[in-house]
Amino acid sequence: MQRYPTKQIKIRNVLIGGDAPISVQSMTFSKTKDVKGTLEQINRLYFAGCDIVRCAVLDKDDAAALKEIVKLSPLPVVADIHFNYRLALIASEFVDGVRINPGNIGSKERIKAVVDACKERNLPIRIGVNSGSLEEQFEQKYGRSVEAMVASALYNIKLLEDFGFTDIKISLKSSDVARTMRAYEELRPKVIYPFHLGVTEAGTTFHATIKSAIALGGLLLKGIGDTMRVSITGELEEEIKVAKAILKDSGLQKEGLNIISCPTCGRLQSDLMSAIKLVEEKTKHIKEPLNVSVMGCVVNAIGEAKGADVAIAFGKGNGLIMRRGEVVAKLKESELVDRFLLEIDEEIKSRG
Ligand code: SF4
Repeated sequence: MQRYPTKQIKIRNVLIGGDAPISVQSMTFSKTKDVKGTLEQINRLYFAGCDIVRCAVLDKDDAAALKEIVKLSPLPVVADIHFNYRLALIASEFVDGVRINPGNIGSKERIKAVVDACKERNLPIRIGVNSGSLEEQFEQKYGRSVEAMVASALYNIKLLEDFGFTDIKISLKSSDVARTMRAYEELRPKVIYPFHLGVTEAGTTFHATIKSAIALGGLLLKGIGDTMRVSITGELEEEIKVAKAILKDSGLQKEGLNIISCPTCGRLQSDLMSAIKLVEEKTKHIKEPLNVSVMGCVVNAIGEAKGADVAIAFGKGNGLIMRRGEVVAKLKESELVDRFLLEIDEEIKSRG
């Protein structure tokens, strides 16, 4: 798949756009002025594999707290600011990037002040268009449509470009999957800037996973997207887990195991569910890209095993372990997972 060529920008040590890997972002939900609580959440995100974190800045205390937060954060920190340009000016002294909508910052002088502060410190700005908070002129003219979102993005981009600022990334979020996808698709050929993908207010883990898999996965498969966030009403780690799974299943991240398992049917004569849970748990630390399959019977197991580095085919009270399609052991059911894990270790070692 060919990615759309985009300008590369940098947020602390994380490159976005161009040929940089697609990064995963999230947002803390603590009050940012609660430095300890915010850092705890940032550390949770870091250990879950997040690349960039955003913190909401609602007042001067939030903006000032970023000084300590950014100093101690293992992740680049982006300040999320609406309406109040003074908060952007304070935050820009400490953070690694700023998310604003220039259109709701006010006069050109105020926008220029924010742009100048970001320019001076080499901070990129994300223009975050959201269908729920469009500028009045676009909502009145187009409603909450794709046209309104694209028009808003182009308007905001021009505001920054007019001040000679081009370290920009853009998001076009809506809670509607089709609208989100069309907005990104329509804007993509019109600008060179990297895109931050997301479906906003996507709901609980179940719904957010489905919506984000359709929208973000669909866009990524068309070569659109440079960084992304899966928004979930739930645990922070879930956002990262789902985002990474979307990247992996879109073929954009090779890291870790690609586990193929059968859905089970009446032919199943073993406890496949427990086996697959154990395999997932015991292999989640593995970074090596490996294809493995765990299948309930020989009907499809042999075919899947041919494309897998390591495979199990369960039988009745026993099963086969295979390496690249070749049977290496026939064992009792109770011994299969342990041997499978050993073969995975061997496979990784054999690759040096
Ligand atoms: S691999 Fe066997 S048990 Fe699993 S779904 Fe296919 S036929 Fe059923």
